[in-house]
Amino acid sequence: HKATHWSIQKKNKTSCDRALDHFDEFYSQTFAEDWPSIRHGLLSKQKYIAVVNNFSDADQTNLNLEKIGALNVRTLFQLEKQYISDNYAKLRQKYNLTKIWKKDEKIARELVKNDSVENVYQSYSLEHNSSNAEIDFTRVIPQQDVSFLNLTEFMPVTKLKGLEDWIAEPQHLENYNLNVYCYEIGNHNDFSSPKNGTTGVLNYYLMDGGSLLPVLALDVKPGDKVLDMCASPGGKSYLILQTLYPDQVICNDVTKSRAKRIYNVMKQYLYDLEEKWLNQNKLQISLMDGRDIRDGFDKIIVDVPCTTDRHSVKELENNIFRPDRIKERLKLPELQAELLVQAIKLVKIGGNIVYSTCTLSPIQNDGVVHLALKQIWEETDIEIAIKDLSVALLQATKMYKFADQKLMKYGHLIVPNLQINFGPTYFCKLQRIK
Ligand code: SAM
Repeated sequence: HKATHWSIQKKNKTSCDRALDHFDEFYSQTFAEDWPSIRHGLLSKQKYIAVVNNFSDADQTNLNLEKIGALNVRTLFQLEKQYISDNYAKLRQKYNLTKIWKKDEKIARELVKNDSVENVYQSYSLEHNSSNAEIDFTRVIPQQDVSFLNLTEFMPVTKLKGLEDWIAEPQHLENYNLNVYCYEIGNHNDFSSPKNGTTGVLNYYLMDGGSLLPVLALDVKPGDKVLDMCASPGGKSYLILQTLYPDQVICNDVTKSRAKRIYNVMKQYLYDLEEKWLNQNKLQISLMDGRDIRDGFDKIIVDVPCTTDRHSVKELENNIFRPDRIKERLKLPELQAELLVQAIKLVKIGGNIVYSTCTLSPIQNDGVVHLALKQIWEETDIEIAIKDLSVALLQATKMYKFADQKLMKYGHLIVPNLQINFGPTYFCKLQRIK
């Protein structure tokens, strides 16, 4: 056989090949010795969670899922949390809790100045050739956030020994309605397709387990008006609705066909969709460019379009690494930052924003958060706290594989691997404080 000339080889490359080449080049630098196993996960079968539909036969569904050996994620988190509280003294040292939990502004400012921002600024400003002027980020206050330790608690919290000073008051725990199931580490069983129950809607929704944490981080509370800015097909909106907390959920997407997909999903999971949800304004499906939305909201999730890494290495259809989509791909960080900036402007004071993606790209993740913060700083008087969820996420370490937090400046990143093949999912929680 004659070897194929390189120029022909290059022509024969599929978009998936191109995506993988690109990731090999960039992610091997970011993730170093961890890249081969992340890559392996990315190319292998992804793992799902089953999110029980409270508008179908929920109790029966819970029982059935337990019968086939699936585990309730809440139980997994609780066990881990017990372990955390048992080892509290050690952890306290490791994470230097006292410093941060006193929310001493001076220390917080020092942390920001000396650690994260400086580094982030250096690494990202080059790539986006933004101005090199120093940015004073002292108004961006990093805060530890343990709220979702509480959120995932099943029983009303009895205060954990030794944790009193950093566990906030438990809120609405007994009403926490999310029932999420997964198989244990190393168990690669599939869930069967969801079935219609007695109310005529499906009994559970299957999604990448990565989707759960951004929604928990959003910390939806009873009465909230929630915006899912880039909602289609509606997986995260579904999770938000299943908490049964919000008064109003607005699911937005930019194209008609994508908005139609949200409608189709909701139709399959909410009975009397028109009568009970749409007509009563409890649910709105809106068709807008997220950057043009003008209402105020208590909570906003911004799950932006990105290079969808898993999709890009496996599916040719709609692949963002197609040569004719280069421009669109290179413009992603700009679009992502604009969407996040708009969300920051729309959220009410005290409200949360979660920015999330399904890419491993540091530019589209922390880089975009950085760009958005910079723009907010330059153009508005808005003040933002970046919520550090590291401690809250300790309870999730048995179920998720996270990227080394040292690689992260603002958010958290779930990385694929063979044992627990969720993600990639990046999420960063921000709170508007002024
Ligand atoms: N949140 C969804 C879920 O969990 O099922 C997935 C969202 S997907 C990652 C990103 C979505 O953003 C796409 O449906 C895309 O149509 C939408 N999108 C792209 N540009 C947008 C814009 N300017 N405004 C609002 N949505 C946009």
